[in-house]
Amino acid sequence: AKQMGKGKACFFDAEMDAAAQDRRMLETELREVIENDGIDLAYQPVLSAKTGQITSAEALARWTHPDRGPIRPDIFISLAEECGLIDRLGEQLLRRACRDAQGWPDHVRVAVNLSPLQFLSGKLIEIVQQALDESGIRADRVQLEVTEGLVIRDVEGTFRQLEQLRTLGIQVLIDDFGVGYSSLSYFQRFPFDKVKIDKSFVDEIGTSRAAKAIVEAVVGLGAALYMGVVAEGIETEEQRHLLVASGCTHLQGYLFSRPVTANTLGKMLMTQGNL
Ligand code: C2E
Ligand code: CA
Ligand code: CA
Ligand code: CA
Repeated sequence: AKQMGKGKACFFDAEMDAAAQDRRMLETELREVIENDGIDLAYQPVLSAKTGQITSAEALARWTHPDRGPIRPDIFISLAEECGLIDRLGEQLLRRACRDAQGWPDHVRVAVNLSPLQFLSGKLIEIVQQALDESGIRADRVQLEVTEGLVIRDVEGTFRQLEQLRTLGIQVLIDDFGVGYSSLSYFQRFPFDKVKIDKSFVDEIGTSRAAKAIVEAVVGLGAALYMGVVAEGIETEEQRHLLVASGCTHLQGYLFSRPVTANTLGKMLMTQGNL
């Protein structure tokens, strides 16, 4: 593909310090693993707060380096963004997620994280359509998670593409809501299907009045705008209790399950019976 120019690197400094050299090596290795379709996906179940059943799973990128071991996705996703590799990686992961979801019961959705940069190529809609066609799954089984960083550049173009995606039947979720520069005005621009409350609020819900008030405000907003509210990063029974009492519609976190392989998820879905 064209953005994968041979040996092209982000850094050209003649004198690179050790950190920069290390990074450059990691970049080369990332380029290679992406070329070989070698980044894996793990899936973390998301449960309905009402029924306790798994209603969707979030696809999370995984890279196990042969020497360095697992590399955190925050690290290699940013690297892919900086080195022009994110379009290719994002497309690969979307296609794989749709194929994996094809093997699950068809009421279970798959949530795929998108980098804001994937809205800049002008090809996203086409890529999503292709992933749907080749996997054969219904558009309404796919959720795309976008973060506030989404409007850093082409605001109009991004919202237009979100509308097209929604017209296809895809669900659009706003991720990590409440941190960074997420703006309430987004909700005037676009009807998100769900809001994901950032883990930082979930962590503090038992100890901070402010965190609890923020969760309740987001739930109120969700109810008024017909959006589901997902709480992520739930680790304790107390957090679960408070989030359900606050009115969150969906729950995700280590308390229920860590991210697992597509196969393991398939088995979990079989044993939980049909909704
Ligand atoms: P995110 O989208 O906010 O994903 C949730 C992160 O929280 C995941 O980390 C997940 O493993 C972790 N998590 C879930 N439940 C718990 C919990 O109970 N406790 C704790 N401590 N952590 C929990 P992960 O997999 O390391 O991913 C980190 C970030 O990397 C993601 O944050 C997302 O921003 C990015 N990322 C991961 N996969 C992709 C991808 O395929 N594409 C893009 N563009 N970004 C991705
Ligand atoms: Ca996410
Ligand atoms: Ca998140
Ligand atoms: Ca996050």
